[in-house]
Amino acid sequence: MNGVDLKDALVAIVGAEHVDPTVDDYLTDVTENPPGKADFVVRPGTADEVQAVMRLAHERSLAVTPIVAGYNVAGIAIPRAGGLVLDLTRMDRIVDIDHDAMYVVVEPGVTFGQLKAHLDEHAPDLVYTYPFAPPSTSVVANALLDGLNNLSMRHGAMGQWINGVEAVLHDGTLVRTGSGAVVGSWFGRAPLPDLTGLFVSTQGTTGVVTRAALQLQPKPALRRRWFAFAFSLDGAYEAMRQLARTGSFDDVGLMTWPAGKMLFGATRDLVRDDDEPLAFLFVDITAATAPELDARVALGRRILEDCGIESIFHVEHLVHLVPRYAKLAELPTTLDFLLEFPGGGLTWVGSYGPGGRWLEGAEAGMAAMEAHGFPPFVVARPMSGGHYFVLRFVACFDKGDAAEVTRVRALMGELADLVLEHDYVPYKASADAARRILARAHPGFVDLFTRVRDLLDPDRRMNPGRW
Ligand SMILES: Cc1cc2nc3c(=O)[nH]c(=O)nc-3n(C[C@H](O)[C@H](O)[C@H](O)COP(=O)(O)OP(=O)(O)OC[C@H]3O[C@@H](n4cnc5c(N)ncnc54)[C@H](O)[C@@H]3O)c2cc1C
Repeated sequence: MNGVDLKDALVAIVGAEHVDPTVDDYLTDVTENPPGKADFVVRPGTADEVQAVMRLAHERSLAVTPIVAGYNVAGIAIPRAGGLVLDLTRMDRIVDIDHDAMYVVVEPGVTFGQLKAHLDEHAPDLVYTYPFAPPSTSVVANALLDGLNNLSMRHGAMGQWINGVEAVLHDGTLVRTGSGAVVGSWFGRAPLPDLTGLFVSTQGTTGVVTRAALQLQPKPALRRRWFAFAFSLDGAYEAMRQLARTGSFDDVGLMTWPAGKMLFGATRDLVRDDDEPLAFLFVDITAATAPELDARVALGRRILEDCGIESIFHVEHLVHLVPRYAKLAELPTTLDFLLEFPGGGLTWVGSYGPGGRWLEGAEAGMAAMEAHGFPPFVVARPMSGGHYFVLRFVACFDKGDAAEVTRVRALMGELADLVLEHDYVPYKASADAARRILARAHPGFVDLFTRVRDLLDPDRRMNPGRW
């Protein structure tokens, strides 16, 4: 196909209606990251088509940037080196559900909203886990990014939920990882060499995932959600730590006071009154039976009170009093109000790290945000039973205000360094955060990662500009 015009060659693979020279919508996202460039958007419908596109890109040395919703909040689906944007939204099949081994096999275009509706109808005894992200975002992209969802306190970052993948490499080769590469069931990653990790947190630089097998969880019969108001950060941390360690709760998380103000539509000049809580905690409690739920409720209440947190509300009661809280009450909870900020800018540094340094890191980051003129908006969650914690600093800004964009960029750089100094590692690292991570990494890590990339993307055409 070498002599054929690129557009004609793409049309021959996916059809004219799925090749688009209008790329503008893909060149920016909600963040402060600069606009990118691309030649064509291509929307493959099958793994065969992905393979054919990747072979063509290989022959012609074209960059390939995969994307689904583009809401990663790190600028990491912005095409940096021209070439092809591979829009995977058409690949939205839910391929298989194994009710016994509790996993689902999905294509990358499957969204959280779609998966929830499908499970509610076809597997009501099972659930997946949901981020605060809009329902239009990709379940597979979230897992590949090592995201953090509402069952991550129990079961860890989303990369750990992947039992295996099917992926297309830079030259069009189709590969498989996990048990599904060997036997007829995608039940897990053990006991094989763990090649799935090659595609986790690598941001599309190692291959385009065309299918992933993702763990499901049993759906508990009973559920209760609390909001609790904390007036000190150390009390809130201690409560999260203790609740996580019992293994009795589904989710525990924290947001500081600016989140509450923004939920009610406030945008700028946020001020906390002395009698307002510093942070609110949300606690999800589930159980199979009423006595089990009662025991967990009693345990949770005792832990919160021991940590000085006495304002505990059933979310239903709170919603009854203040309907706007419904946004945080329903499951999946979404924080889409963050996208309503005037000027449309949303960015953050989110990181995972040791609980022992959470408090110090949170306080330092909040001070840095205030020093740059942003409200101290922190999101936190214990992960994987309390083995590590989330520390995320969120900033909304006006994308049309150049001075504010410069300010938020400086803040994000400073926060990426700050979390690293507190032994936290940014997740879904922006290009800037990735540079800072690699600058501190052990030379042996950098060497091994470079060798992996030399093998899987020797020309650095796969989502260029990352890592
Ligand atoms: C308000 C808001 C709240 C959010 N809350 C959370 C949260 O609580 N937890 C959380 O984890 N995330 C959260 N997010 C981030 C993000 O939306 C989710 O993680 C989401 O699932 C990512 O899906 P996407 O379709 O937006 O991915 P995209 O941005 O389209 O892609 C993400 C990355 O993966 C790459 N990629 C995409 N598909 C593939 C593929 N098939 N193979 C290889 N690489 C691929 C892309 O190139 C890009 O680098 C939030 C976002 C917003 C806007």
